[in-house]
Amino acid sequence: MIDIQDVYKTYTSGEQAVEALQGVTLHVAKGEIFGVVGPSGAGKSTLIRCVNLLERPTLGSIRVNGQELTALTPAELRLARQRIGMIFQHFNLLSSRTVAGNVAFPLEITGVDPVQRAERVRELLALVGLSDKANAYSAQLSGGQKQRVGIARALATQPDVLLCDEATSALDPQNTSAILELLRDLNRRLGLTILLITHEMNVVRQICDQVAVISDGKIIEQGSVVNLVARP
Ligand code: ADP
Ligand code: ADP
Repeated sequence: MIDIQDVYKTYTSGEQAVEALQGVTLHVAKGEIFGVVGPSGAGKSTLIRCVNLLERPTLGSIRVNGQELTALTPAELRLARQRIGMIFQHFNLLSSRTVAGNVAFPLEITGVDPVQRAERVRELLALVGLSDKANAYSAQLSGGQKQRVGIARALATQPDVLLCDEATSALDPQNTSAILELLRDLNRRLGLTILLITHEMNVVRQICDQVAVISDGKIIEQGSVVNLVARP
């Protein structure tokens, strides 16, 4: 589902060059939950931003569902983005919009008509257990509830893949567990492929099938979680 082949990313500013990714190769199968774990500065955000088309790799190939992402025209890019959902550490909700308004946002952008949009928003809020919060604003929600809104919004356009950027790092242990359970549930019920990055081995242990360890822009270890990570 996600094929990352020999990807390099170098950031240059003036004389300075940072080699954030140095030949990363990963294969995420359809329906898998794949974790990339590593310390701060290892290149995790750069990697996930390349898959989400927020950055372009300097070299290498990234294919999602067979489509090469590094060679898309701007119009193709917009369509490809709808096939890839993403959730964030700090949720990135629009504070001026209600919960339903946030979830409806990607559907407005893609031109879904108001009747279908409202129906889809209701389905999505039910999916993440937030039907009773449709008209609340994000300031009135807990962290765990905010991330549920993030998940509903990310799934609005029915993506093949969900990318999670430190999605539970701002949450307490209880909310972390609840969000990880929801992600596992969505993975099973929708067959959703999930690629997550985290600095917490605990997250990997709780929900990932496969794990890759990244350090200084290189994958130094890769395999199934049962083989690589001892469960408590
Ligand atoms: P992680 O997510 O694992 O903390 P990052 O991908 O954010 O790692 O960073 C990898 C390296 O790339 C770090 O040395 C970081 O300072 C550098 N870096 C990240 N983003 C940029 C950028 N926009 N410009 C320059 N350097 C960057
Ligand atoms: P906001 O004030 O947050 O912008 P709006 O009431 O303008 O919210 O609605 C934005 C979008 O959210 C609309 O497209 C509408 O379809 C959807 N929406 C709003 N409230 C609900 C609701 N209770 N159930 C389902 N969809 C809703």
